[in-house]
Amino acid sequence: MMHQEITYSCTTCGQVFSAADVRYLCPVCAGNNDPLQPPLGVLKVIYPYAELKSQGVSFKQLKEREFLDLLPIANIENLPPLKIGNTPLYRVRSIRNETIPFELYLKDDSQNPTYSFKDRASALVSAFAKEHEIDTIVTASTGNAGSSLAGICASQGQKAYVIVPESAPIAKLTQIIMYGATLIPVKGTYDDAFDLSVSATREMGWYNRNTAYNPMTIEGKKSVSFELF
Ligand SMILES: [Zn+2]
Repeated sequence: MMHQEITYSCTTCGQVFSAADVRYLCPVCAGNNDPLQPPLGVLKVIYPYAELKSQGVSFKQLKEREFLDLLPIANIENLPPLKIGNTPLYRVRSIRNETIPFELYLKDDSQNPTYSFKDRASALVSAFAKEHEIDTIVTASTGNAGSSLAGICASQGQKAYVIVPESAPIAKLTQIIMYGATLIPVKGTYDDAFDLSVSATREMGWYNRNTAYNPMTIEGKKSVSFELF
């Protein structure tokens, strides 16, 4: 299947990598990661902003092309066939009958297919997997990311494995199972679930959706800013 050539730069050291060589964290910086600190070496996708600017591409044109120019996928059709994003934006004028002295808006991302903003990330992870012919995706999750991956994979005919810590809420576990994903509870914390998912990725060749660890999760969530722009 066709896929786009993607280049990443490391947000810690700035080194540039091809997606053909690196899929998750920067191999130089990831080695220095401390489990108690936010991860080093998170990758961001490089886009041809200068080229788009010199071609005079407008926001309206980007929007007409469903922002494909600013996404790391080759074809919009590879995104799930579900309505993700374009959620309502509400102006909130008062809280507990008291007028707010500034403008406050709430973006209701619970209107996404699995009821959370995590669908924005899962959608792109799923499309990337499809374009790279990977049919199984794994994630560590405390609830929302896992139920999102389960629902999105169900809609795309992909297999999902969700590894959860013992603190994960029953409602979310039920949702994960209802979508047909394989649930793997671990007796431990989110960090234990995270480590197990990384091992599973290494051993089984599954694609890994862990938040921030997979740069597609960050790319996917940016779609909310296109809606607010
Ligand atoms: Zn780096």
